[in-house]
Amino acid sequence: MENTPAKNFITEIIDEHLRTGRFTKVHTRFPPEPNGYLHIGHAKSICLNFGLARDYDGLCNLRMDDTNPEKEESEYVSSIIEDVKWLGFDWGGRLFYASDYFDKIYECAEKLIAAGKAYVDDQDADCIRECRGTLTEPGKESPYRGRTPEENLKLFRKMRAGEFPDGACVLRAKIDMASPHIVMRDPVIYRIRREHHHRTGDKWCIYPMYDFAHCISDSLEGITHSICTLEFENNRPLYDWFLEALGAYRPQQIEFARLNLSNTVLSKRKLLQLVKEDRVDGWNDPRMPTISGLRRRGYTPGAIRSFCASIGVAKMDSIVDINVLENSIRDELNKTAPRRMGVLRPLKVVITNYPEGNTEELDAVNNPEDAASGTRKVPFGRELYIERDDFREVPPPKFYRLSPGREVRLRYAYFITCNEVVKDPHTGEVMEVRCTYDPATKGGDSPDGRKVKATLHWVSAKDAISAEVRLYDILFTARNPNELPKDHPAGADYMVNLNPASLEILTDCKLEPGLGNEKPGARFQFERLGYFYLDPVFYKEGKKVFNRVVSLKDTWAKVEKKGY
Ligand code: ATP
Ligand code: MG
Repeated sequence: MENTPAKNFITEIIDEHLRTGRFTKVHTRFPPEPNGYLHIGHAKSICLNFGLARDYDGLCNLRMDDTNPEKEESEYVSSIIEDVKWLGFDWGGRLFYASDYFDKIYECAEKLIAAGKAYVDDQDADCIRECRGTLTEPGKESPYRGRTPEENLKLFRKMRAGEFPDGACVLRAKIDMASPHIVMRDPVIYRIRREHHHRTGDKWCIYPMYDFAHCISDSLEGITHSICTLEFENNRPLYDWFLEALGAYRPQQIEFARLNLSNTVLSKRKLLQLVKEDRVDGWNDPRMPTISGLRRRGYTPGAIRSFCASIGVAKMDSIVDINVLENSIRDELNKTAPRRMGVLRPLKVVITNYPEGNTEELDAVNNPEDAASGTRKVPFGRELYIERDDFREVPPPKFYRLSPGREVRLRYAYFITCNEVVKDPHTGEVMEVRCTYDPATKGGDSPDGRKVKATLHWVSAKDAISAEVRLYDILFTARNPNELPKDHPAGADYMVNLNPASLEILTDCKLEPGLGNEKPGARFQFERLGYFYLDPVFYKEGKKVFNRVVSLKDTWAKVEKKGY
């Protein structure tokens, strides 16, 4: 893969481990919980974990962290597998499920009990929470803390056998209720939950808590570097304590700052809410920051990988501007996407001095960034479409495009001059503009050095295909959607920041005819409009829809200045 290894604080730690012999190899893992689709934040973690394995000639496992049966589904498992593969990473047959370790994790719990390091607590959840204490005050010991290992073992086995109702008791680690680390104050490690599990079915009615299951899973897989996001920093002493208490092999946990992206949310809970409330059209809606959404929007795996490489790995939380993500695909498609012409909001142009019934084929460059891509023929005729925006009956200052009496260039074609405007007699709407062309300007060059200030894209009316085009905008208008506007209604949440105009559907776009034969998944630049992707999902449903991946924003700024 093309992305060169980057040095960061994690590689420094790894280098030191390899130097001192703490580890002799690198073995990482990407451990998603299958309770939602992967998003661009996960891509950062995937690129990091698989990237380290690649750079150090090590291994990276894919592990479904499926210890919580309530919210997990096999639909999510298959989407995760598909997305990691699509991003270009290979787990080499090491796809694991934390639920496959349930027997071993259970044995570990019995081991802790036997060593006097865990006990069954009959207090309810509220009581346990209240007794935990605060940062300044120690917690209160449970009255059940003194149970003997024998008694605890008997009770724990009864928990497993289903002899107690849900919530009747829990298994807790016996650590230190006065520890300055609140996570060390006898954390719960097993609870009773009669819940069907997507893999183990109804075999278990007790399930291990994340902190307990996670370190054991890492240890069993021989992971060297257990990389996670900063919110787990506080849990590291617990991670280490469990494995030490079990006398088990101990990986090194390392925390890094999670990715936050402007104008979107990266929390599976919130993304699920967008889906459930039909604010978007499913997890793979092209506006979603999910991997499947980005894929359907038209992003490539390479662009996502280069985005992840460009943002780096740090210890400090920050918000990355969504433009950085957009630039990654813009840069790639600028080099690779064939140029085509398409008119999104068509306005009819009649070339009055062009012979009736005549047509010709003009040469158009496929990609000025890629000489090898050559040229293609585009048909030209007496009736054309141009973009409605490119004409103004009364041009405002600095509007250099078509207006009555003005001459402009049609890209790869001719200079045309507007002579007449045909309007709807009732609404006054411009229905058609009538122009003359200068046959001496074929190809778009004027033989006499005459200058025009604008070049427009166009399609031949008779030859164009009609298609649907979808334009996307940011999903949330606020840079940080979790910050509510001052005047927000009572009880509002981040949904108030949802952008009501995030999707625009244009159903009668006119595209140059060659686009009629293109296969789903193809990407193009529509000149002056952006990069577009022929949506494979709609294609399967018999609908041709071009998604705008990203606009040409940067080019546009330039274009406007030059009066392109
Ligand atoms: P969410 O908050 O979206 O539910 P999560 O952390 O609960 O995310 P997991 O499935 O547990 O989701 O995440 C799998 C891995 O991806 C973890 O190692 C986690 O640290 C990492 N990860 C999740 N979100 C991000 C993010 N925004 N940036 C970087 N890494 C992330
Ligand atoms: Mg998680």
